[in-house]
Amino acid sequence: MNNLAEPLLRWFDQHHRALPWRREPRDPYHVWTSEVMLQQTQVATVVPYFHRWLARFPTLADLAAAPLQDVLKLWEGLGYYARARNFHRAAQQVMHDHGGCVPQRPEVLMTLPGVGRYVAGAIASLAFNQPVPALDSNSKRVLCRLFAREQADDSLWSLAEALLPPDRPGAFNEALIELGALVCTPRQPNCAGCPLQFACAAFQRGEPAAYPRPRAGRAVPHVLVPTLVLTDDGDRTLLCRRPTEGLLGGLWEFLSAEQSPTAPLVDADVSALAYRRANLTLDPASVRPLGSVAHAFTHFKVTRQVWLARALNPEALQPNGYAEARWLSPAEVEQLPLTRSDQKIWALCQGGMKVRHLPDWNG
Ligand code: SF4
Repeated sequence: MNNLAEPLLRWFDQHHRALPWRREPRDPYHVWTSEVMLQQTQVATVVPYFHRWLARFPTLADLAAAPLQDVLKLWEGLGYYARARNFHRAAQQVMHDHGGCVPQRPEVLMTLPGVGRYVAGAIASLAFNQPVPALDSNSKRVLCRLFAREQADDSLWSLAEALLPPDRPGAFNEALIELGALVCTPRQPNCAGCPLQFACAAFQRGEPAAYPRPRAGRAVPHVLVPTLVLTDDGDRTLLCRRPTEGLLGGLWEFLSAEQSPTAPLVDADVSALAYRRANLTLDPASVRPLGSVAHAFTHFKVTRQVWLARALNPEALQPNGYAEARWLSPAEVEQLPLTRSDQKIWALCQGGMKVRHLPDWNG
């Protein structure tokens, strides 16, 4: 065992968090589920989702057999929905190509949808004790500091591989991640409580938080998306399902203008929107602004500018650019997987959310 592994593993054995996916013996499906959920998401957020997921899909076979809409509904609120769609497809691929057994080798795991180097390394090392590294943003930061690397580049992978103890590679990977999450945090590393302080180059240079160097900032595009909460003559509301592939694929939303991070801000011409995307004509007297809802994606921000209106010809509904569109009762709306901002819009409609921005009410 190298001179980092022993103190790190001793620290990990004493201080690691008892998370539900860490129960021994490790189940590869549980490890996989947690790693997919934890990407871009905090542990505290993931825990209840993890329990609900396993209650609904106890095995990989259950996940593979489930309708995509059920998968997306359970994922609702976690964001980055491509993770759920890919996990679902990967489960089907494992059932079809691998007899239902999660592959053990990282190069095979990486042939599955949504499985990159990190997730493959995590499954292979944690569930099958394979001697392969698994570097997430936490462990990359720790390595950069230990070796005073300014950039978290690909060379860290071979460095991590050389550090792996042959008897506990999975625990070593997890310990490095845990150290980054609990001790070697981005802005204020707790070097006094760190088991690797004796070997840390960044600490010895007196500037532990200076590694890795921050990347140059970039401007985040902002997109304004006019959105229509449309009703028919009764209490039904129009919901539209986005195409399966692409941003928020397969999720349902209120009738909206097309979203593109490269598009300029557009005027809220909701009558043209209703006609263009659904072949519907609005009752002009019914159109009124409801408010706005903001949402941030990784690479751009969206503000949904929401309008209420009634359609004069609901039977003429013909979606354009959507997989499908339906007139739904309030109870039916609650059953469908909505995007995060559409959940907020629905709450706005129900009066459960404070209206943050109200332009002219005569629109
Ligand atoms: Fe991070 Fe400080 Fe430990 Fe170095 S000594 S690994 S900077 S917590």
